[in-house]
Amino acid sequence: MITAQAVSPGLITDRQYIGGQWLESAGGVMQSIDPATEEVWAQVPDGTAADVDLAVAAARDALNGPWKRMTATDRGDRIRRLGDLLDEHAARLGELETRDNGKVWSETTNEVRRAAKWLRYYAGAADKIEGSVVPFKTDAHAFTRYEPVGVVAAITPWNSPISLYSWKLGPALAAGNTVVLKPAETTSVSAFAFAQLVREAGIPDGVVNIVSGRGSVVGSALSGHPGVDKVTFTGSYPTAQAIMRAAASGLKRVSFECGGKSPHIIFDDADLERAAIVATHSAFRSTGQSCSLGSRLLVQETIYEDFLAEIVSRASRIRVGMPLEAGTHIGPHSSAEQLEKTLDYIRIGKEDGGTVVAGGGPVAAFDRGFFVQPTVFTGLDNESRLAREEVFGPVLTVLPFRTEEEALQLANDTTYGLVAGLWTRDVGRAHRLSAELQAGLVSVNTFRPTHWTLPYGGYKQSGLGRENGQAVLREYLEVKSVVVDYSSTPPEDPFAH
Ligand code: NAD
Repeated sequence: MITAQAVSPGLITDRQYIGGQWLESAGGVMQSIDPATEEVWAQVPDGTAADVDLAVAAARDALNGPWKRMTATDRGDRIRRLGDLLDEHAARLGELETRDNGKVWSETTNEVRRAAKWLRYYAGAADKIEGSVVPFKTDAHAFTRYEPVGVVAAITPWNSPISLYSWKLGPALAAGNTVVLKPAETTSVSAFAFAQLVREAGIPDGVVNIVSGRGSVVGSALSGHPGVDKVTFTGSYPTAQAIMRAAASGLKRVSFECGGKSPHIIFDDADLERAAIVATHSAFRSTGQSCSLGSRLLVQETIYEDFLAEIVSRASRIRVGMPLEAGTHIGPHSSAEQLEKTLDYIRIGKEDGGTVVAGGGPVAAFDRGFFVQPTVFTGLDNESRLAREEVFGPVLTVLPFRTEEEALQLANDTTYGLVAGLWTRDVGRAHRLSAELQAGLVSVNTFRPTHWTLPYGGYKQSGLGRENGQAVLREYLEVKSVVVDYSSTPPEDPFAH
């Protein structure tokens, strides 16, 4: 068996990273399968509730110790250094990520480089968190001060591991919190490589702790742990509900980024060439394993046939292949389970009366690995499961519409509300729909431009709270009002009479 130890010298994969130490877990190990070869290529600790206790205690000590004593500027410097280290190690981290989750190497490497920018953005924010003087009364000095929420549990999914570590750790650390990070079961390897860089960046021991393991054990222990003050989670809606229930004990702060079934609306007055390129990419990138795909394509009736033909032709040209090879556009699904789920949805789409106009099954050229063809469905309505449920695979459902009103109605008729996109040259329509679409991110003549400066998160069942931008810092801070009364006249005594 190839272990991560062999692939990446110095990477310790049978121990958790707690309080700056590599600690053996009593839980044994979980194997990580390379989704392109179906071979076990690494192993990571199968954590226990006892690991969680140790990690939370270490995070608490660091919160009240070195991290608290450090100036905000020093904290920022270390977060920036961590960003620089991500850049330096992008190729290696990208490779670990590709081996773990099957995304193509150019994409994972790019994600690591972008994660570095996220960290630098929040590094700069660390010493700009300012309270204010409040005009409360004339003989008192009243002010607000912002303080860290405390120990943050960060629970992440398998589709974009390092990106999401930076989305969560950047603002959490800038605000002065400490963190216990629980990576997803099948993609924990890069978290331990990340831990080594945390150390190298001079971030004090215990500020960032990594505990890998199962959601039902480690995730659940963290969500209900009395020593955890906030849970920030990215993943599925049912898991968010379970975390919310567990976090109710102690009224922990929670923020959730869940899934999407994002409408992508193409009007007949749009720049259709640009729209076709972006619509194809937004439906199939990352093998469809993203919460923010344009997986529900709404096309105006007047251009429906031509636009569909263009999408089908582009989808058929996508090169599915080995993710470490240059020239591959999309890799395999990240696990056998995800492949099965996508194939199930393709079956469901057919049973519901849909027509497959591109793809429709596994890739014949591969006898191993979790590869699936980019697939396009027509003939389904907005009530069908493929139009309502998140596949998390490269499966696009295309629906026609007649008018702007109908497009809006179809777009909002979903339990999700993460992202929405529209293409039009009509400025009035662009603004009308931007106001009416129920989604945390609306993009016009582009799709889902996620960026460290832009708040990101969901309406409805797509989430609670926001990530990114300056607004997210508030999610990692408590605000305290302080009143210092300096009046010298005795107060009126309410008990005098
Ligand atoms: P998941 O909910 O199964 O798992 C996510 C994480 O939660 C994993 O680390 C898992 O171990 C942990 N977990 C599982 N059960 C738990 C429990 N009872 N208590 C605490 N933690 C638990 O999701 P997934 O399958 O890994 O990821 C896919 C989902 O993530 C999709 O629905 C996708 O839309 C969503 N996602 C959302 C965003 C976003 O930003 N909105 C980004 C990426 C993925």
